Amino acid sequence: MARQSTVALLVSVALLAACGRPPAPAVAAFPVIDGSRVLEHTKTLSSDEFEGRAPGSRGEELTVAYIIDQFKKAGVKPGNPDGTFVQKVPMVGIVTDQKAVLSFRKGSREQKLAWRDDFVAWTKRVVDRVSVNKADVVFVGYGVQAPEFDWDDFKGVDLKGKTMVVLVGDPPVPDPSDATKLDDRVFGGRAMTYYGRWSYKYEMGQKLGAAAVLIVHETGPAGYPFTVVQGRTAELFSLVAPDRNLSRAAVEGWITLEQAKKLFALAGMDFEEAKKAAVTRAFKPVPLGVTASVTLGNTIRTVNSQNVVGRIEGSDAAKKNEYVIYTSHWDHFGIGVPINGDRVYHGAVDNATGIGGMIELSRAFTALKVAPKRSILMLAVTAEEQGLLGSAYYAADPLYPLSKTVGVVNMDGLNVLGKTNDITVTGLGNSDLDELAGQVAAEQGRVIRPNPEPEKGGFYRSDHFPFAQQGVPALASGGGIDYIGKPAGWGKARSDEYTANDYHKPSDKVRADWDMSGAAQDLQYYWMVGHRLAQSDTFPQWKPGTEFKAKRDAMMGSRR
Ligand SMILES: [Zn+2]
Repeated sequence: MARQSTVALLVSVALLAACGRPPAPAVAAFPVIDGSRVLEHTKTLSSDEFEGRAPGSRGEELTVAYIIDQFKKAGVKPGNPDGTFVQKVPMVGIVTDQKAVLSFRKGSREQKLAWRDDFVAWTKRVVDRVSVNKADVVFVGYGVQAPEFDWDDFKGVDLKGKTMVVLVGDPPVPDPSDATKLDDRVFGGRAMTYYGRWSYKYEMGQKLGAAAVLIVHETGPAGYPFTVVQGRTAELFSLVAPDRNLSRAAVEGWITLEQAKKLFALAGMDFEEAKKAAVTRAFKPVPLGVTASVTLGNTIRTVNSQNVVGRIEGSDAAKKNEYVIYTSHWDHFGIGVPINGDRVYHGAVDNATGIGGMIELSRAFTALKVAPKRSILMLAVTAEEQGLLGSAYYAADPLYPLSKTVGVVNMDGLNVLGKTNDITVTGLGNSDLDELAGQVAAEQGRVIRPNPEPEKGGFYRSDHFPFAQQGVPALASGGGIDYIGKPAGWGKARSDEYTANDYHKPSDKVRADWDMSGAAQDLQYYWMVGHRLAQSDTFPQWKPGTEFKAKRDAMMGSRR
């Protein structure tokens, strides 16, 4: 219809009005993005030849070479001030012996958990072997210490050397006036806060000196089925901490819901009752009178993985030292446990599409007669799937000062199902970037909407988050659910299918029925958000009350 045919011609009136000079020839029309080119990149990157793009593998070499080659073809310059296209990211890779048994004991009774079927565990400690030997098991509820919500599940209990069993997600506190809903004033209601993330639970175990941290897996609050946890049995990577991660719990892992129920039964308790009791501020840690033992053997290697970084230099002499960063992760899980006979974790949607999109965005920027005033950095990061390692490394050790980094736009998993009337912004309302996103979407004839599944904690799950943690405003957007020409509910159903069947599995492959017009539509939006930022004179701000604002304010204060 009309909106679709004119979308490429829309001119940014707001931008011209903001210039304060007679309007220059329009440069800020939505670019033409060719979805079929994005598809070609995606096919290459997700092919068997690229071996699932694991960090430190031949797949990494091929992937990094491909991105650099495409950046060069697009006219993008090396993004590292040392004149190269890469930032080295030193990491350690650990493969855990696959035969471990986790044993819970109470007196003469023993509950044995089988590797992979019943539990998955690993160690981040850079050592050959870790053991937890008859460590007392303590149930700590949701394992949350949140002074702002007057919540402390630990109540000062001593967890040193003990095994902490913890629930995934935030405490689901019911609304006092309507018990069918969650209380929006505590832990974000239905939305997951960082307290609900698995990484937070392991961080608490480290802080309290626990020997082991075992999370009870439940598909709803985790956001994915146990099969996704079972995928975490290949090589796992960490950034190398100076203490070789020895301050972390010796053993970190997950147990199935079924085994958790058996564990509580072994302790003479009921899991569901215990879980219910954990949803109140009065909860106290419960020693189960059970001990846990497990030994994990490790094979260790160090690798220099790589963030690929390209630069499109700003055209304004005063502003070209200010940066708009696009992030997108190139890595996936490599070759691992076969599912339906396929060992290659292709990661087509996640995230060959994002890298394909980044390459085409680059081309759309370099095609401009006049580059944007500020510089654009294209940052294709490594090891997102390992816990956002590449982006965390950049955000902690940036190539250009974060105080000169205007904002971050992340792309993880493009829409391959056709055009939408809407686009999702995760954590909508966090920063001024969201308003800019809303303007751009409106010019496309679309609406922005909050993430329909806030309980999955999406804002903490991709590469914008380490930047946010360091204070840089970051946009986490992508995909809609209201597909043009499809019935209501179709988008949500397809998204649920993907999560259940293909997410982090070998079957995340290019399909014949993909419609890349949706990816192209979203890329136009990403491009325009970045372009507006690069033309602007201002730095977007975090909204008052957001957890990231203080850091940015301090940083920008020191800049002045
Ligand atoms: Zn992923």
